[in-house]
Amino acid sequence: MKTYKIACIPGDGIGKEVVPAGQAVLQALANASQLAANSFKFDFENFGWGGDWYRAHGEMMPQDGLAALRHKDAILFGSAGDPHIADHITLWGLRLKICQGFDQYANVRPTRILPGIDGPLKNCKREDLDWVIVRENSEGEYSGVGGRVHQGHPIEAATDVSIMTRAGVERIMRFAFKLAASRPRKLLTVVTKSNAQRHAMVMWDEIALQVSKEYAEVTWDKVLVDACTDRMVNRPATLDTLVATNLHADILSDLAAALAGSLGLSPTANIDPERRYPSMFEPIHGSAFDIMGKGLANPVGTFWSCVMLLEHLGETAAAKILMGVIEQVTADKSLHTGDLGGKATTAMVTQAVCDRIRQSAV
Ligand code: NAD
Ligand code: MN
Repeated sequence: MKTYKIACIPGDGIGKEVVPAGQAVLQALANASQLAANSFKFDFENFGWGGDWYRAHGEMMPQDGLAALRHKDAILFGSAGDPHIADHITLWGLRLKICQGFDQYANVRPTRILPGIDGPLKNCKREDLDWVIVRENSEGEYSGVGGRVHQGHPIEAATDVSIMTRAGVERIMRFAFKLAASRPRKLLTVVTKSNAQRHAMVMWDEIALQVSKEYAEVTWDKVLVDACTDRMVNRPATLDTLVATNLHADILSDLAAALAGSLGLSPTANIDPERRYPSMFEPIHGSAFDIMGKGLANPVGTFWSCVMLLEHLGETAAAKILMGVIEQVTADKSLHTGDLGGKATTAMVTQAVCDRIRQSAV
């Protein structure tokens, strides 16, 4: 029987509610698998890093924290963000430290309108919106390079330098073309801003063209990021796989999630495609200060992230069962949480998912 070592990092806010829910669902899948030939189990280890750890230790995670994660098969992450600690400290001290430390350069963000969900777009059929956004996750606008001088003086200056490298752009383009080639429509849209940013984004476009030659089966086009927002809203069916820089894709994927019904539904995977390091799976939402601690968080984005985690581990049968169960549960409006206009709690949705897993054989 295979045993997968999973690190669980709930982090802050509703991360502390949705990660245990995700763990319960993964455990239910492992239990169900015991009846089948292909059984597996999880060896979970929990890490209490985040805002509380910061208050106790002055850092979001221990200096040698990455070493404790290094040999895990995957990481399930919640959110970094605390109402009493500056956002750049919580984000850089935990989530970005892991993403960059493990060179998880491909951030994959699927979006679909799940059964039973009413998106805000009128005239948008469910099948019109089926996207995967590939976000460059290691450099660009979030390189962390820059500085501040003369703080507080009128001559104060600050920079955030966006760094793009040929190696970095080539590898994310290859990943995106390959992913597009694996999807039925074989369609890729390269998001750019090379009209205004005339150095790095021009290189981005050139590399897209070069890499496209390796993937003749993929139809691709280019769109400026501002125009992309219009296309997502008004012509969603013209998009399938998208690739964009760290900042652009961060923004576009929240828009995508909102158009598909709620930020609480959307998953993401921070992947090291070369599998040198563990990859990390998390809902796209943050700590949700307005609802934290109340048991109201929608856990579906975390469950869908667990589907991606299972796919990454090669447990495709279990991944399929979980996605099917998620769709049964979203189709039932009595199991909608507040973000979807319903009254269900995190616990109710989690219980419903676990019950349905028990009823299906893995
Ligand atoms: P947010 O995603 O936490 O919340 C935005 C809105 O969506 C809120 O109204 C919230 O209640 C709602 N929402 C989000 N997830 C939900 C869910 N699962 N169920 C129901 N409603 C949900 O974004 P924000 O308010 O901009 O950020 C709050 C904190 O989280 C900040 O500190 C930010 O830096 C951090 N953050 C962290 C990550 C991460 O760690 N990956 C991502 C985004 C934001
Ligand atoms: Mn974001």
